Amino acid sequence: MKGEGEDQSFDISALHECCAKMKLNGHGHATLDEMQTPSGRLADIRMNMMEGGGVMVSATDITDHKRKEQMLDNLASTDPLTRALNRRGFESAVSRLREIRHLKDKSWVFGLIVLDLDHFKHVNDTYGHAVGDRVLERVAETLRQALRDDDLVVRLGGEEFAVLLPSATAAVTKRIGERLANMIRAIEVPIDKQSKQFVTITASFGATVGGEARQSFIELADAMKAADEAMYEAKQGGRDQMIFKIHGREGDS
Ligand code: GH3
Ligand code: MG
Ligand code: MG
Repeated sequence: MKGEGEDQSFDISALHECCAKMKLNGHGHATLDEMQTPSGRLADIRMNMMEGGGVMVSATDITDHKRKEQMLDNLASTDPLTRALNRRGFESAVSRLREIRHLKDKSWVFGLIVLDLDHFKHVNDTYGHAVGDRVLERVAETLRQALRDDDLVVRLGGEEFAVLLPSATAAVTKRIGERLANMIRAIEVPIDKQSKQFVTITASFGATVGGEARQSFIELADAMKAADEAMYEAKQGGRDQMIFKIHGREGDS
């Protein structure tokens, strides 16, 4: 931040470039979209060559428009109840993370944990849908709190969530899965406003790793399939447990 009275130098190098482009293309006009101004606001710039050699520059402040666009994008990529990503938001966030890793010349590997709440229908049937909703909110909140900023939390549907852990090894993924299981077991949701009675829940977990494996590449979709199968096995095995599986490998645990 500059103090009052100090020269607020305006970086116009981008405008010079735009002007040079206009002269070069010979059209007598040029545009520069989403220019960052020194105040941090964004502007679309239009330049027109005037008769006699002058240049007319117009700038449209598009900051609010961009903010709205961002808000709509967030709405389209997150689930309104839990504020977790939806599938669409999840897939684009994963692609972004993968691109960033590659831009940094780093390999793309990830841990993936799918979890489905146990006997959730019973919670709804016994305490009502509103209590069920509160449980879902608390689960998503717990996942967010337990994880790092780069980790992704997605609501895959109803009472099924997944978390993606960039760069996590199998051992780290398993450890985090166990931690999430403990944190979910500790959630207490009051059955009504006055009540001192609480609903508690457990979840069944399927965990896996994906990305650049030793000799192959495990795509997100295949990792999802492996984690889903593992989660199903955890259900079959009596629920409230985690199974670890790697796509294309039998008997991993
Ligand atoms: P399991 O241990 O086998 O997973 O049993 P379950 O009862 O958890 O599974 P089931 O698939 O039979 O039931 C899931 C329930 O989740 C049924 C559905 O009404 C409820 N559900 C899905 N979405 C929501 C929601 O947004 N809010 C609430 N309150 N309930 C939801
Ligand atoms: Mg369930
Ligand atoms: Mg389910």
